[in-house]
Formats: sequence, C-alpha cells, structure tokens
Amino acid sequence: MYDYDLLVVGSANADLVIGVERRPGAGETVLGSDLAVHPGGKGANQAVAAARLGARTALLARVGDDTHGRLLLDAQRASGVDTVGVLVGGAPTGVALITVDPSGDNSIVVSPGANARLTPGDVRAAASLFQASRVVSAQLEIPLETVVETVRNLAEGSRFVLNPSPPRPLPTEVLAACDPLIVNEHEAKVILGDSAVGGSPEDRARILLAKGPRSVVVTLGAEGALVASAQGVTRVAPVKVDAVDTTGAGDAFTAALAWRLGRGAALTEAAAYAARVGAVAVTREGAQASFPTAAEVEAL
Ligand code: ATP
Repeated sequence: MYDYDLLVVGSANADLVIGVERRPGAGETVLGSDLAVHPGGKGANQAVAAARLGARTALLARVGDDTHGRLLLDAQRASGVDTVGVLVGGAPTGVALITVDPSGDNSIVVSPGANARLTPGDVRAAASLFQASRVVSAQLEIPLETVVETVRNLAEGSRFVLNPSPPRPLPTEVLAACDPLIVNEHEAKVILGDSAVGGSPEDRARILLAKGPRSVVVTLGAEGALVASAQGVTRVAPVKVDAVDTTGAGDAFTAALAWRLGRGAALTEAAAYAARVGAVAVTREGAQASFPTAAEVEAL
C-alpha cells in the first residue's frame, strides 16, 4: 500500500515577471509594469498539477528561508501537496527573472539558488518518501547527480518518469530507469544529438527508445503526442482548444501521465488523458494557475 500516488523530485522557483514595451539590450534600462510574482519551477508545477487532479502527491525539493520559499510552500499546501519533503535553507529560493513584451516574446534569467543545493544526500535522507510512493517523477532543474541518486533510490515495484528539461545528454543508468522518458521535440534533439538530424518525430521516438528507456513519450504541442514502447509507436490525437498560454503545459502533461500510470492505466491511455489535461492548461493564463481539476478535465 502506497501513501503517495506521486513523489516529485525537482525544482521550485519564484517567477518574477515584468511586462515591457521592449526588452532591454546591453547597457539599457527600460521601465516596465508592476512586478508579478508567481510560484513556478518544473518540480513544483508538476506536484501542483498532480494534486489538483486528485493525486496524493509529495514534493522533494529545496527552497530558501525567505519570502519566495514561503510563497512556494503556501502554493503547494493550498493545492494539497504534502510538503514534508521540502527542505528549507542553504541558499536563496530559485528565481526566474522574466521580461515579456507585448508580442509575448520573453527573456528569462534563472538563478537556481536552493535548487542547485538539492543533493544526492537529500535524496537518500528521504528514503521513507521513496518507499511510500508508487510513481516518482523528476526533471533537470536540479543537479544531474541528484537525479541519478533518485533512480538509485526507487522502491521495488515503483515507476520512474522523467521530463529531461532543460535537456542535456543523460547517463545510461538514468535512461534505463525511465518508463517513460517524456520529451518535446527540442529535448529529443538535444538528447539524441547528431542522430536526430532529419527524420520524423516517429523516427526520433524509435531512436530514443533504442537508447534504453522502457518507454518514450514525445509531446508535440497542438499536434498531440507520440507514445513509443516495445509494442510500437502510437499517435495520441490532439485535443482541439483555443490556446491562450502554453506555459506549464508540459508539466501538467507529465504530472497527469504519471498519476494515471500509477492508477494502472496503459501508457497510451495515460497519455490520452494527459493530452486532455495539457489542453485545458493551455486555455488559461499562467502555469500553476492554469492546471485543472479532474472534474474540469471531464468537462472538456
Ligand atoms: P512547456 O515547456 O511549454 O511546458 P512542452 O514543450 O514540454 O511545454 P508541449 O508539447 O507544448 O510540452 O505540451 C504538452 C502537451 O500539452 C502536448 O503534448 C499536448 O497534449 C498538450 N498541448 C500543448 N499545447 C496544446 C495546444 N495548443 N492545443 C492542445 N493541446 C496542447
């Protein structure tokens, strides 16, 4: 019996957003809108997305002992995430400094802060959370060695889901644990390097699968997704919606997929559900603010 449907091991950032008429060049100062501060970071986003769907969710992350850390913890708790695994201190909370111009183009500077201090030792110290979790998900906004330690600490019979974002080449040990590895086209190309040149998304999914994951999901934005496993490659049809803001769609998709897999769904079934969750998320502004409840997904 597992206490958690999903344990998310990952980042938590405060997104500091300022709207500008024009993004500044070198040496330039521009005036912008009032500052908006939003809870974000891929780990925190996935945890909130899963909990909002009804998954019993825990987050293993690190934030600073500061205002942004408290904002992030409050947002997790308000969505029903168990924050017993959120460590506090060691560095300031991670922040993303975001300027957005009227066309929606942005410039982002990330200070990983406390996320860079989430260590393999922190993973080992959270052994009881791993033992209690049916599915564990991670991303790459924390040190790679912490992700490696995560796969080494999976409980017998639990399942590991990885969204390698921001992408970088992955050790064989991590690839072999993924079931599935969830990538968008950009991430697929970075992980595959030269072998991704040319070819269709289906080809890339097959080449990725040959690198060792037990399964692969390629997300294709408004085009839906692809699922690749030993059973072959299957398309997941897109859900037609009027997209307003795609921020966090990938996090919502990953969280939903992980939760459904933990509930015993087959991979294609879980991906079809996740596509619906991603579709609802893009119809609303923001990341965590855009994530739907299960009832809202049903209503789509
Ligand atoms: P992000 O990095 O912006 O969070 P991503 O690039 O990792 O996202 P996407 O492929 O953009 O991930 O989106 C994840 C999933 O959400 C898609 O596979 C799809 O199912 C759904 N989705 C995204 N955009 C749309 C859209 N415009 N219309 C319908 N569904 C969408």
